[in-house]
Amino acid sequence: MSDMNKLIADAKQWVEQEKVWNDALYATKKPATVRPVSPSVPLPEGEGARKPGDASLKAAALRALYEKYKTCTRCSLGHSRIKFVFGVGNPDTEALFIGEGPGYEEDRRGEPFVGKSGQLLDKMMAAIGLSRQTNAYIANIVKCHPMTNPSTPEARGNDRPPSPDEVATCSPILLQQIAIIQPRLIMTLGSPSTKMVLHTRDAITGLRGKMVSFDVDYFYPEITTMEELKIDTRTREALRATKVIPTYHPAALLRNPNLKPESWEDLKLLRDTLAQHR
Ligand code: URA
Repeated sequence: MSDMNKLIADAKQWVEQEKVWNDALYATKKPATVRPVSPSVPLPEGEGARKPGDASLKAAALRALYEKYKTCTRCSLGHSRIKFVFGVGNPDTEALFIGEGPGYEEDRRGEPFVGKSGQLLDKMMAAIGLSRQTNAYIANIVKCHPMTNPSTPEARGNDRPPSPDEVATCSPILLQQIAIIQPRLIMTLGSPSTKMVLHTRDAITGLRGKMVSFDVDYFYPEITTMEELKIDTRTREALRATKVIPTYHPAALLRNPNLKPESWEDLKLLRDTLAQHR
């Protein structure tokens, strides 16, 4: 492609993304058309197929998981948090979004992605027919607010990324959520969640734009000393079909809107992959 053609293609991508996300630059009066995907859409035949009744079983399993960990103090974040931020959405979803960790707003509300990044994430999801209210699930790699100064949980601007130790300590909770939900697709939002879910050190810039397999054997080895991570054969088989699409964190898009067209590409990959097998 010549430089000029590439420029034109990039510009078209911009315009399309801004329109569809109903985002500031090209905000239309009418909100983007949202076509919710039915959570009961069947998966392909076989071990991984969703069964009738899965939704209520998964909801009960997630509730039990929440009850088990809601007072967790396995790392220091548990001592400074205001609320434990477990996750939100449809337990029988095909699409799981994974962020980094709760911030100021989330710590107060007990729900992931309810601040400025969350508003953008909601728009991004709506643009491909997904929402936390109907057919998607949102969680984080750590469930409590990582603060630069834990002695002032009331302060704004007190956020920091979770440390590798905090991520490792908290990871059994997310991994159990993944085993319960058995999503077809996981979209990791930003570097820390992509690094954790793909157990890689590679930067997000090199990983986004691709769909990669979720390595079930890495996270749920046949022999594990972690009782929490034991999963049955059916779950293991179902998770073999799970794919991961890494993309930028919405906060990165707010800081650098030039990244939005690439992130729109990633969302379309998610949308089009979900639309297959339907
Ligand atoms: N950023 C995240 O990664 N997660 C949240 O829940 C909120 C902001």
